[in-house]
Amino acid sequence: MSKIQKMPNGCWMWTGCTSKAKTPYGIISLGSKKLGTDYVHRVSYKLFNGNIPDKLEIRHTCHNSLCINPEHLIVGTKKDNQIDKIKADRHCKFLKGNEELAPIIMDLYERGMKVTHIAGELNMQYQTVSKIINTVKNRKKMGKNPFARV
Ligand SMILES: [Zn+2]
Repeated sequence: MSKIQKMPNGCWMWTGCTSKAKTPYGIISLGSKKLGTDYVHRVSYKLFNGNIPDKLEIRHTCHNSLCINPEHLIVGTKKDNQIDKIKADRHCKFLKGNEELAPIIMDLYERGMKVTHIAGELNMQYQTVSKIINTVKNRKKMGKNPFARV
C-alpha cells in the first residue's frame, strides 16, 4: 500500500493504476494472473472492515472514487450507489435534465418514501420531484413511455 497520497480532508487517494471509466476507481493486482485484479477500495474495505456481503457494493461517503480510506467506505446496494453518483454528478453540474433521475425517484416513491425525503436525499427541490412523479404517473395512465425526457 505505497501508492497512497493522504489528503488534508482525510481521503487516501490512490495514485496507482485506475479503471478507464468516467468515474475512475483504483485497481490493484492480487499477486497472480489467476487471481487477477480487484478494485483497491474493495480490497481496502475487506482488509480493514471484513467481507463484503453478496450483491452489495462499496460506497464512498466522501464521493471520491479514488479514495481508499476504509473509514470513508461503507457497504450499500447498487441503488444507493446510483444515488451517490447522481448526488456527486449534480454537485459537479454534469447532469442535464432529469431523465436519469426519474426511474430512481419513482422507485423510491413506489417503495413508500415521502416526496420531501426523496427531495432531501437527492438534493433537489420538492416541487421538481413532485412534478416528475406526477408527470410519470400521468404518462403511465396514458400508456406513454413514462421515462421519456421529463
Ligand atoms: Zn475519502
